[in-house]
Amino acid sequence: MSTTQIRPEESGQYSAKAYSAASATSPLAPATIPRRGPGDDDVQIEILFCGICHSDLHTVRGEWGGTIYPCVPGHEIVGRVVSVGSEVTKFKVGDIAAVGCIVDSDRACANCQEGFEQFCPNIIGTYNSPDKQLGGMTYGGYSDSIVVKEHFVLSVPSNLDLAGAAPLLCAGITTYSPLRHWGVTKGKKVGVVGLGGLGHMAVKFAHALGAHVIVFTTSPSKKQDALRLGADDVVLTRDADQTIKHAGSFDFILDTISADHDINAYINLLRRDGNLTLVGASPKPFAVSAFGLLLGRRSLSGSPIGGIPETQEMLDFCGKNNITADVEVIPIQKVNEAYERMLKSDVKYRFSIDMASLRED
Ligand SMILES: [Zn+2]
Ligand SMILES: [Zn+2]
Repeated sequence: MSTTQIRPEESGQYSAKAYSAASATSPLAPATIPRRGPGDDDVQIEILFCGICHSDLHTVRGEWGGTIYPCVPGHEIVGRVVSVGSEVTKFKVGDIAAVGCIVDSDRACANCQEGFEQFCPNIIGTYNSPDKQLGGMTYGGYSDSIVVKEHFVLSVPSNLDLAGAAPLLCAGITTYSPLRHWGVTKGKKVGVVGLGGLGHMAVKFAHALGAHVIVFTTSPSKKQDALRLGADDVVLTRDADQTIKHAGSFDFILDTISADHDINAYINLLRRDGNLTLVGASPKPFAVSAFGLLLGRRSLSGSPIGGIPETQEMLDFCGKNNITADVEVIPIQKVNEAYERMLKSDVKYRFSIDMASLRED
């Protein structure tokens, strides 16, 4: 296997502090992990904050299959550049930089050529993907340090709060990308289904893009928050009358729910040529009525994260509009507790780990 070959950049290999899971049933616990010394096209980042994504929990607990242990999750990374390779041009020591879900791809396929690295057949995820330099698997952002190829490192606008900026790298781009792809602009009527980590970002983005935004939620307690985040109105989905009055009126609906639910009711709210995009991954297949799609030529699609150029565009948009995620900042020692709370949706709206706590650990 070529993955075990010794390469020149391994000469500077060093140890980083991390929180790692030893098995699907083990809690995350302190560990030491190897990181490669920065090569010519690498950026070495001291991690300051890392957001907690539902994917972290699913991967750590082996719920999607394919997790190789030990596993260090985390793909919402913000930090400070501490060294750069000789060929790096976009970053210098001291810059604030970010890393999302992708740390490598083949850079050669049609998707990569067009800046859609998220669809590359040879994509390397920030964690639990084969590590071409060190062998084994890639380790993510629950760590004090990471080394990433310049192409996959993003610039963070200087006005953004760093704890709140971290979740932009997954929750942010996951919602921004489909809103842009489906042409959400001023004057469009946009629905956001669910108000969690993804949904609250979608509301902020759709509002900043000028759309008329309506949030669909089951909980009356979320109404005030939805309005504060930028929604123009809130529909309580348990009240069928409230929903029906919007029939045939939406240009676009973003469905952020990851649990099983009926999507036909939402498809019927779309106008002619309207689109419903899924960004949550329900474990069960949906039953979809063909009539809902036929009548009105409506479409149903999905969307995963975003490519590197669009992720930078999203961060720049956030800089201009002063958008960050609403976060609860925690020390890394509380990460297992945070997972349990996340399962109960007990977070507004994303956890962001302050990595200074790891340095003290
Ligand atoms: Zn994620
Ligand atoms: Zn590719």
